[in-house]
Amino acid sequence: MRFLKYIILTTIILICSISIHAQELERHLQKGLLTINPEDTYNYCKEMVKPEYAGRYTGHKGYTDAAMWAAGLFKKWKLKPLNKQDGYLQEFPAPYCIIKTAEMKLLLKDGKTVTLKHEEDYLPLLSTDSGINTAGVVFGGWGVHAPELNYDDYQGVDVRGKYVLCFRGIPDRREPGFGKHNEHRHRMKIAKQKGALGIFYIYDKPISNPNMDWIDGFTPTVISEKTADILFAEKGIKAADLRRDLQTYKRPISFELSSKISYRVESDHYPDGTGYNVVGYIEGTDPELKKECIVIGGHFDHCGNHLGILFPGANDNASGSAVVMEAAEAFSKTGKRPKRSVVFVLFGAEEMGLKGSTYFVDNVPLQFTKVDAMYNFDMTGEGDKARGSATPSPAEFGEGIKAADIHVKTLSRLGEIRGTGGGSDYAPFNRAGITCATFSSNGPHLHYHRSGDNIYRVNPDIMADITRLVYIAAYRWADR
Ligand SMILES: [Zn+2]
Repeated sequence: MRFLKYIILTTIILICSISIHAQELERHLQKGLLTINPEDTYNYCKEMVKPEYAGRYTGHKGYTDAAMWAAGLFKKWKLKPLNKQDGYLQEFPAPYCIIKTAEMKLLLKDGKTVTLKHEEDYLPLLSTDSGINTAGVVFGGWGVHAPELNYDDYQGVDVRGKYVLCFRGIPDRREPGFGKHNEHRHRMKIAKQKGALGIFYIYDKPISNPNMDWIDGFTPTVISEKTADILFAEKGIKAADLRRDLQTYKRPISFELSSKISYRVESDHYPDGTGYNVVGYIEGTDPELKKECIVIGGHFDHCGNHLGILFPGANDNASGSAVVMEAAEAFSKTGKRPKRSVVFVLFGAEEMGLKGSTYFVDNVPLQFTKVDAMYNFDMTGEGDKARGSATPSPAEFGEGIKAADIHVKTLSRLGEIRGTGGGSDYAPFNRAGITCATFSSNGPHLHYHRSGDNIYRVNPDIMADITRLVYIAAYRWADR
């Protein structure tokens, strides 16, 4: 009997709380919310990770085919295209490389040879040139040459015709002057100027990454910490100790090893590659305010297929693309439109250095006089809660996201976007002074940029929840 009372009581509470929330939420938004479901987001991801799209590598046919598939959905949902001529595809230059074969051997001081395995022990960085060399190895700390800060990892070592082994990072994070020295492009340019054949980054595990420039005769690569330890054994030290000492003493520790590396890599370089953003929009209803737009975007690209290894990028970022697509469908089926226009963008070449989003910010479609705000989604598939950050002003923008979350209850935290940096597509918008927010799921994002980032990593429920959140928050913001 007591149990029955309990059941009745909780049912009443549940009905009351549902109706309270239902009352709070505008009717048209309730209608749009009904179209958002986990199955849709999962099915979009499943399509995007198909082998025929070859890891959605910007410039490659696989990416372009996938972009055309997404454009087809935008059309089906009756989004307005970017313009008549180009339809839903915004074209921009995207040079790229495909790695065909690679072979790496460590020729150790004691005469032993160790043959390394792709992805497990090493992985060429994705903008590598071809090369065949057996060469000496110099450990070069962080690979930083900063005479303006009295710091030089190259001092006292000669890297000409050799490979430079280094960590990703800088000697002192509190010194802003080191900022540019932490960029791959800068570090590689310096290593090339010093005469090195390539940079070998020491990472915990090798990851795929195209975010750098192709340099003639230069073969950048990532090796695992375990591989580095095999090389350092001749000195009786470990990579972890070297990293700790560099961080602690903040001065260079560079030395040449007696072991050598035999490395052959073959890549095809396409300097004239073309990338695409997929762009569609819902026109606002206010004759003046519709010239302003709210952007809901996420990157569509990932790291491709190299050495026969497919990088499906299910979590990074089929998941965020699925959120953008599911939100687009919900807006198109709301039956009402907000005052401002809402633009849905699947960006290309994020992995190559935010190229698609930068191009969009520099070439905002002509029907709009300004971008009023931007919501970004990157890695929204792994985990069960959402995490976000928003620009602190205007305060109402972040408050709007929190108010939307009352109906979804997915947001574990909303931090602040500070400064002008950031490694995802909101950054070019933020730099242009546009109000923005970025979202991811709480992870753990275990297979970041590795072949294991497959469909089994993504949780359909979290993608649907994040879509509900942006749908409510962005609609209200566009309608204010
Ligand atoms: Zn990403």
